[in-house]
Amino acid sequence: MAKESLECSFCGRKKPETNLLIAGLDAHICDRCIEQAHGIVAEESKQTKNEDLSSELVLKKPLEIKDFLDTYIIGQERTKKVMSVAVYNHYKRLLQPSSLEDEVEIQKSNIIMVGQTGTGKTLMAKTIAKMLNVPLAIVDATVLTEAGYVGEDVESILTRLLQAADYNLEKAERGIVFIDEIDKIARKSDNPSITRDVSGEGVQQGLLKLLEGTVVNVPPKGGRKHPDQKFIEVNTENILFIAGGAFDGIERAINKRLNMQSIGYSASKNEDRPDENNILQYIIPRDLKEFGLIPEIIGRLPVLTHMNPLDTETLRAILTEPKNAIIKQYEKLFKMDDVTLTVTDEALNYIVEKAIEYKLGARGLRSLCEAIFTDAMFELPSSDEKQLKVSRSYAEKKLSFDTIKKLKAVS
Ligand code: ADP
Repeated sequence: MAKESLECSFCGRKKPETNLLIAGLDAHICDRCIEQAHGIVAEESKQTKNEDLSSELVLKKPLEIKDFLDTYIIGQERTKKVMSVAVYNHYKRLLQPSSLEDEVEIQKSNIIMVGQTGTGKTLMAKTIAKMLNVPLAIVDATVLTEAGYVGEDVESILTRLLQAADYNLEKAERGIVFIDEIDKIARKSDNPSITRDVSGEGVQQGLLKLLEGTVVNVPPKGGRKHPDQKFIEVNTENILFIAGGAFDGIERAINKRLNMQSIGYSASKNEDRPDENNILQYIIPRDLKEFGLIPEIIGRLPVLTHMNPLDTETLRAILTEPKNAIIKQYEKLFKMDDVTLTVTDEALNYIVEKAIEYKLGARGLRSLCEAIFTDAMFELPSSDEKQLKVSRSYAEKKLSFDTIKKLKAVS
C-alpha cells in the first residue's frame, strides 16, 4: 500500500489527517482511536472494580453482625445491637443503586460511643472493620486543630484512611474512620468567647463537612497543604464515621436532667430510680450538647450509644473468652516453643483483682499478664521444661508491689 493511502482501520482517517498512525499485523490505528479505546478500557475496568468491591464487601444481617461482635467483645450487649443495626443500614444505603426517581434518601448512620477509656470502643470499631473487610483509620481528635494552627488539619483523617486502604481510593471511600477522644474537642465553655478556642469549636466545624459527606482534597502523604503537592479527591459520602469519647463528668449533666425529670413524679418508687452505677446508659443527645459538642456535630452522629463500665465478671471473661483473648495469645506464644501453658482459675481471679484494685481496666490485664509471663518467656525457650503452670502464688511472686506501682504509673 502506498504510504499516503494508509488509513486508520477503525475510523478511516487518512494518515495525513492523524498525528500518529500505528501499524499492526493487518491493520492500522490512529492516535484518536487509541485515546478513545483507552477511555473505554478505563471505564470498563472501573466498573468491574466497583462490582468487585461490592462483592468483596461482605454485608451481613444485623443478627450475624452481632454474632461476630460477640466472638470478640464481651458484654456491651446494647451497644453491640445498636452498632449492628447502624452498620447494616449504612452499608445497605451504600449498596443501594442510586435512582433519580426515588425520593427517599437514606441518611448516614454515623455513630457516637460514650464510655470510659478501656471499655472496648476502639475494639468495637476494629471488629466491625475486620468483619466487613473494609479499611479502618483510627485517629485521635486531640491532635486535630483548626486549619492554620499547629497540629493536624481535619483532612489528615482521610490521609490515614487512604493509607489504610493502600491508596485504593474506591476502598477508602467505603471505609470506616474511628475518631477517638471526640470529647476533647468540646467547646470549653458555653460562651463562645472573644479569645479563639483553637482546639474546640473550630475543629468541630471542620469535622462537620467530613461527617455529612463531601469531596475533600486530601494530601496523600499527609502534612500541611502544600501548593506543589498533588491532592487526591476523596468523597466522604459513603465513609462510616464512628466517634468515641469518655466524656468525663457527663454523668453530672445526666443526673441533673434525670433529677429534674423526676420532680413531680412519684420518684419514691425504687424501680423508677436510675441505676447510680451506670448513669451513662441514660445519655441522650442533649447531654452531649451540654458537654460542649455543637448541635450540628451531634446531628451528624445520629446513632448515640454507651459503653458499660467493666465489672469483675467482664474482666475475668475478657482474659479467656474472646476469640483472641489475652490468655489464648500467651498459650499460642508458648506453644510455639512446645511449652504447654496452664493458668489456674485462682491465678486468673488474682489478675482481675489486681486490675480492679489498681484501677487498671481491661488494658491493665495485658500489662499484668506481661509482667507475670516475662520471666518464663525469657527462660523457657532455652530450657527443656515443656510445662508452665501459673498458680495464684506464682502470679503473686511475679507481681511484686513495685511492678504494680509501675503499671499504675503508665496506665
Ligand atoms: P477504648 O477504645 O474504649 O479506650 P479499647 O477498645 O482500646 O478501649 O480496649 C482496650 C483493650 O481492652 C482492648 O485491646 C481489648 O483487648 C480489651 N477490652 C476492652 N473491653 C473489652 C470487651 N468488652 N471485650 C473484650 N475485650 C475488651
